[in-house]
Amino acid sequence: MSGPVRPVVSRDNAYFFEGTRARELRIQKCKACGVLRHPPGPACPECGAFDRGFVLAQGEGTVFSYLVHHAPKVPGKELPLVIALVDLDEGVRMVAEVTGPVEIGDRLRVGWNVIDDELTLPIWTKVDR
Ligand code: ZN
Repeated sequence: MSGPVRPVVSRDNAYFFEGTRARELRIQKCKACGVLRHPPGPACPECGAFDRGFVLAQGEGTVFSYLVHHAPKVPGKELPLVIALVDLDEGVRMVAEVTGPVEIGDRLRVGWNVIDDELTLPIWTKVDR
């Protein structure tokens, strides 16, 4: 049995996966100008500074767009797989795996899919209002 596709953890995004292991959704923040950004990178797109930290997201957002993946098979995943672009309330956009069908504008809340001791991934669920 093959496991899920594992993210490539680099110096630039290690903080994110250390966060998910602690069940925190972290957003990279420029220490020079304060802008939040995702996906993470070495330099600030606004001011070019390399000094960076992170803030914790509240873990809720709104579906900007989504796709439903039916084929081909994805290792470790049940199909169909719902992948959304979610606009976090903090103002950054993330790629999000969602547990069920969604529509544009739906509210999502993050949860945690513990793969093993090393890896926990965010998994998003629709918030019913
Ligand atoms: Zn900056």
